[in-house]
Amino acid sequence: MLEAREAVKKLHAYRPPLAGRQGLRLDFNESTIGCSPRVLAQLRSLDAETLARYPEREPLESEVGDFLGLDAAQVLLTNGGDEAIHLLCSTYLEPGDDAIIVVPTFAMYAIFAQAEGARLVQVLSGENFAFPLEEVLSRISERTRLIAVANPNNPTGVAVACDILLQVARAAPQAAVLVDEAYFEFHQETILNHPGRPSNLFVARTFSKAYGLAGLRLGILAGDSVQMAMVRRSTSPYNVNAVALAVLPEALRDQEYVKNYVAEVQHGRGLLERELRTLGLEYWSSRANFVLVRVGPAHTEFIQALRTRGILVRDRNSDPGCEGCVRLTVGSGEDMRTLIDALRGVIETINKRPEVRV
Ligand code: PMP
Repeated sequence: MLEAREAVKKLHAYRPPLAGRQGLRLDFNESTIGCSPRVLAQLRSLDAETLARYPEREPLESEVGDFLGLDAAQVLLTNGGDEAIHLLCSTYLEPGDDAIIVVPTFAMYAIFAQAEGARLVQVLSGENFAFPLEEVLSRISERTRLIAVANPNNPTGVAVACDILLQVARAAPQAAVLVDEAYFEFHQETILNHPGRPSNLFVARTFSKAYGLAGLRLGILAGDSVQMAMVRRSTSPYNVNAVALAVLPEALRDQEYVKNYVAEVQHGRGLLERELRTLGLEYWSSRANFVLVRVGPAHTEFIQALRTRGILVRDRNSDPGCEGCVRLTVGSGEDMRTLIDALRGVIETINKRPEVRV
């Protein structure tokens, strides 16, 4: 009988709760206002020929390179940030290699690394989810072939300074070090153009968050051109579809739209964090478009009560160090006012029931 590889059989199925997402979607860190109207206009103008042809990625890699201040050879367009992670794992990990991640973090590092048969080395974040530099350095060995760090991190929103990441990359020259900047636009600090960036350091970006294009599946992997040539070898020439490639230039050109949304999110995040403080809830100051908040034992009831009010948020209770935590996506100012109103009502209701007080 046909059997999947042992490494795959051992994986836990990862099923994000995508079904029935009706209402205000504050559960997947998507944009709540969608993409630029200029991108949408471009999308609507596409003709049959665009779809009939196999997509050509390279000219767009030059354009993205110019935008990022890199050569085209340092840039690979990917099918979302997820594919960038997947490609790094399949390019560098042999079965039995070590992959280091700092938890809690984005689930796909563990999944793709383990699918290659790598051994997962999970390092717990420090106090208040600070990056545990000493602990990470102490776990690096010759077997370490991948280190993945989301900066800012998901689900905590906590960022790590570039010089700390550089220290990690320099301490593990035999490992691919991925700095996943999926939330870069909100944080506005990048390691990408750092003058001392070593050749084992890769940066991933996505159009799924600030650009409002999660459904389009478009991401970027950037790194040293020699290393990127290796990554390209295992990439499909058509991994990014023609529609995504056709609208990409317009998405890049309309920086005004991204800038305005980022400003709105930063303002909304401030409002939300202030409200969480007022409500006496513990939360972690975020550099991204979401906030992690500790609701406590009533977290399931809290999520359900928000759902009843038409707002979807994400349970993070099972993540290491996140007992009783819920992640709230930050969206437009209007959406944040809706969320804040609902939060007040929900917390008041829960607090009236002494057995589940938050
Ligand atoms: N990295 C991080 C840290 C994320 O949070 C996400 C999305 N949740 C991704 C990568 C992947 O996003 P996408 O594949 O949509 O680009």
